[in-house]
Amino acid sequence: MSDLLSKCTVCGALLDEEDMFCANCGTEAPRQTATQTAARTATHNFQCTGCGASMSYDASAGSLRCPFCGSTQLEERKDAKILAPKAVVPFAIGRDRAEASMRHWLGQGFWRPGDLARTASVVGMQAVYVPYWVFAADTHTYWTADTSQTPAGARGDWFPMTGEHHDRHAGLLVGASGALTPAETAAICPFDLALAVPPGQVDLDNVTVEQFSVNRKYARPLARMGIEQLVAQTCDDQYVPGRCRNMKVNTRIENLTSEPVLLPVWIMAYRYQERVFRFLVNGQTGRATGQAPISLRKVFAAIGIAVAIVAIILLFAVAARGATLSQMDSTKTVDSPLTAVISPAASRVERQRAFPYTSRSSADRDDAGRRWALRLRSVRPARAGILRQWSVVRRLA
Ligand SMILES: [Zn+2]
Ligand SMILES: [Zn+2]
Repeated sequence: MSDLLSKCTVCGALLDEEDMFCANCGTEAPRQTATQTAARTATHNFQCTGCGASMSYDASAGSLRCPFCGSTQLEERKDAKILAPKAVVPFAIGRDRAEASMRHWLGQGFWRPGDLARTASVVGMQAVYVPYWVFAADTHTYWTADTSQTPAGARGDWFPMTGEHHDRHAGLLVGASGALTPAETAAICPFDLALAVPPGQVDLDNVTVEQFSVNRKYARPLARMGIEQLVAQTCDDQYVPGRCRNMKVNTRIENLTSEPVLLPVWIMAYRYQERVFRFLVNGQTGRATGQAPISLRKVFAAIGIAVAIVAIILLFAVAARGATLSQMDSTKTVDSPLTAVISPAASRVERQRAFPYTSRSSADRDDAGRRWALRLRSVRPARAGILRQWSVVRRLA
């Protein structure tokens, strides 16, 4: 809080030199007279034209490359007074452990290419002190929530609760990097701030140090959001028995303080199939986060398997429908002469029924001859009878 000049007369929040009103309660801030900002003079200042990161560099480093985006287009800036950190957490893990941590992380995850951990080549790796704000505050909270533990005799499932909570929050980190995203600076947390040392004990001139790009006044709303989330979680854990829903907190934040600190981060860039990805490792704990490619082969294979399953299901559906149709067809066409002749399995009787005059066997033909003979025999007596009758008529005449 060395770069803060005064406290709000109403709520006690610390005021920045540029503040006209208290950011916490809105009270008009007293006129500032002199700036006593704690600053240090940074030499070897560069700004990356690729990603915009401002940093000071190790003077002894041979080649200059932006640790955040890998660009070599760095513009040298004049020596300048910059915000001095209040504390620095020194590096606890070395280059080898950081790289091992990266390869372990790359090997995880289903959608990553199988050879990613093996074939990814590290193209840049730098130890960088990344700026953070450390916030602390006292909180006074009124909260309401619903719990599912209903008292005896109650009929509803949920039952409202309310209460009050006092707390002290310290060590809340908000990233102040201009090059890393808030998601990235949050993903490598936590850091053990108890191991921080005064900046004088770390040689900040011969190492890459990113400069503060997020002012305190822009970090503060993020800190307030973080504190309210912590308070809501604490109230849930401490006061609400059973299940909890609709936790609402009304938190008054008092004595909000913030300190600039530098935290150790290994920033790496690795190349996989001509693409470059950024990777971060917490320089104190080894916790890793980063960007990783997605295996297109695995995605296409998953899509292919899904399509194949759908196709098999459709095929089964069509086959089942076809079977019922052909069953209906066969019952309908048993009597059809054409199918009876075409089908090799059709019996002789069926073939005969289809074409009765062409497919008879010799026995059948003999049979037919006998029938003709019988018919002729039966015709002859009839003819004789007619002749007889005719002769009788002639005689009468
Ligand atoms: Zn105030
Ligand atoms: Zn850059």
